[in-house]
Amino acid sequence: MIFFLRTARPPLPVFLLWLSAAFCCVLLTPQAFSIETDPQLEQQLDEYLNSLGQDPEASSLQLKAMEQLIQPGTAPTSVTRFHAMRVFNFLYGDDEAKLTDALEQLITFARQHPSPDVMGEALATKVEVLVTQGKMNEAYQTIVELESYLDAVKQPRIRYYANNLLGRIYIRDNQFEQASKHLHAAMEAVLETDDGRTDIRRTFLQSQLAQLYADMQNLEQALELINLAIEGMPDSIKDHLAEYYLTKGYIEGELGQHEASIQTHYRALKQAQQFGYQGIALLSLNNIGASHILLHHYDQAIEPLQQANELALQLEDEYTQQLIRLNLGYIQVMQGNYDHGLQQMRSSIEYYREHGRRSDLERFLTEFAKALNHAGYHVEEAAILREQRELNKELFQADRERILAEMQQRYQAREQAHHIQRLEQANALQERTIENKQLQNRLILLAAFATALAGILMWQLYRKVRHVNRRLKEANKQLEFQSLRDPLTGLFNRRSFQQRMAKRWQHKEHRHHGEERDALILLDIDFFKQINDQHGHAAGDEILIEVAKRLTQSLRQHDQAIRWGGEEFLLYLHRIRPKDLTTLVERTLYLLAEKPFTVNGQPIVVTATAGFITLPFDDIPEEQLNWEKALQLADLALYAGKSKGRNQACGVTGLHVPLTDIMASFDVEKNQPLTLQQLKCTEVAGPSVNRA
Ligand code: GH3
Ligand code: MG
Ligand code: MG
Repeated sequence: MIFFLRTARPPLPVFLLWLSAAFCCVLLTPQAFSIETDPQLEQQLDEYLNSLGQDPEASSLQLKAMEQLIQPGTAPTSVTRFHAMRVFNFLYGDDEAKLTDALEQLITFARQHPSPDVMGEALATKVEVLVTQGKMNEAYQTIVELESYLDAVKQPRIRYYANNLLGRIYIRDNQFEQASKHLHAAMEAVLETDDGRTDIRRTFLQSQLAQLYADMQNLEQALELINLAIEGMPDSIKDHLAEYYLTKGYIEGELGQHEASIQTHYRALKQAQQFGYQGIALLSLNNIGASHILLHHYDQAIEPLQQANELALQLEDEYTQQLIRLNLGYIQVMQGNYDHGLQQMRSSIEYYREHGRRSDLERFLTEFAKALNHAGYHVEEAAILREQRELNKELFQADRERILAEMQQRYQAREQAHHIQRLEQANALQERTIENKQLQNRLILLAAFATALAGILMWQLYRKVRHVNRRLKEANKQLEFQSLRDPLTGLFNRRSFQQRMAKRWQHKEHRHHGEERDALILLDIDFFKQINDQHGHAAGDEILIEVAKRLTQSLRQHDQAIRWGGEEFLLYLHRIRPKDLTTLVERTLYLLAEKPFTVNGQPIVVTATAGFITLPFDDIPEEQLNWEKALQLADLALYAGKSKGRNQACGVTGLHVPLTDIMASFDVEKNQPLTLQQLKCTEVAGPSVNRA
């Protein structure tokens, strides 16, 4: 199917692209959307775009005049649109410095107001400039950034413009999937608008997509779309009908629908002739001829091809003319006119060998080989096929290398952009991590410091508390000791003994069986006043201390010595037989009197007189005669001893009267003193002493 020429689609004329962009800027005014714009500036930009192409100089001045409208508070989307217009104004001029400057201003402004709409329009404009300048590497980097904003762009005008631009770029790069995605997005943006030009833009995109699908060999869908474009085409752009029919005819031809293709191409021809599109007329005529050839209607093919030949001559389009000649030569061969036909084909092939695109030559060689085969020129056929194969290999290689190179370029550009993005993110992350770590460290340090401080404080507090507790314990102990002891002699005091006796009662220690009894011995030092007088009070103290010591020595484990008063002592004896009691009393008298006390190196004879009694006394239950009463009896006995000359003891062993007789004597208020005659006593003598 080499005889079809490609459709009339131009190889991405950027100028057209620009026009379409400008076109939609007029159509899709942003006022209809929630984005804040500056109505006055927008209106002037619309007027500027409408008047574009009429008088370039007037347009430039118009643009310059708009600068005054821009104030610090002017809506950024409108300002961005203005800057983009300035860029386009310089894009096709010859002042590259002004273009660079305008682009710089646009991007700088956008980065200061980086909403998706502002960034979308600015970056799309930059991409278009870079593509126009052939700086594809930079363009791809910018596309990466543009695509990151595109989904969030609010204004359909900008979404349409950017997606349409990207769609065309990807078509040019044979990235049909990507192209399709963007053209569909552009279509969606268009459908969000509803104004007088919506149909035009939709039709335009449909034809774009149709051609894209044809490229992708998605022919059914391509046909459907071009039909839609033709059907919905508004009258105002009917002049494009020739181009659309040409596309449709081409798609039908590719689908093998040659009859339909011929009809459609005639329509294209008619429209082209009407609107003076000679190029489209030429291609239509050639394609009609080619369709007839494919239908083997060689006779019918000749006329349109001859018309095409004339037109090509007229248009001085030698490239197409040589193709037509090739087709005509082919027909002659098929009709048996071998030599003439082949000769004509050879000369065309020769032309393409010299001037043709390698890919075209390769396809034409294939058809030429078919003709040679038909004519039986097998040697030449073999040579041509070899040439074709070599060329094919070379093309394949070159194609692959080109594709690889392109892919690599694209990949590198994208990678670079992503890498930069990743680096920036990683840097930000790292900075945050470091900051966090530092903060964490500081916290840990602070916590450690606080813990240490708290520890020290607590330790100090604990030590202090422990110390105070110890002191308190000691003080308490001392207090307890002091409250129960006599400070001079260290013996138990009266209070302590009372407690002891209360406990004895509580614990029922007073209940005795058998012979043993508890006993009380009350002692009073003889002539102590004299001792004090003769040796001084301090000496008297020392004697008291020494007396206490000697008394303690004579006691058993459960006995107790008590300082009862000034120079009076009480011995409490726990469970003792009455016989042993007398011995103990005697031993006590001896213990004191036998060996003189030595104070300040001077021997002092000390004797004592005692009264003693058992508990219970005379088998009278203690409930009737308690220890205090018993002690009063012992005190009376002591008094008896004193009166009998001292240094002796008297033990009360019984009563000469009934108990009831003496009970009143214990009541102080009754004033009925006890008398010695009422008591049975036993006497114990102390050692004989020599009082100096
Ligand atoms: P008697 O043989 O009759 O008991 O004669 P006495 O001098 O011991 O009698 P008295 O009870 O009149 O005197 C007791 C004296 O003991 C009076 C007091 O000054 C003295 N005295 C009491 N307590 C202390 C003391 O703690 N230290 C000293 N040094 N003397 C004391
Ligand atoms: Mg006394
Ligand atoms: Mg005395």
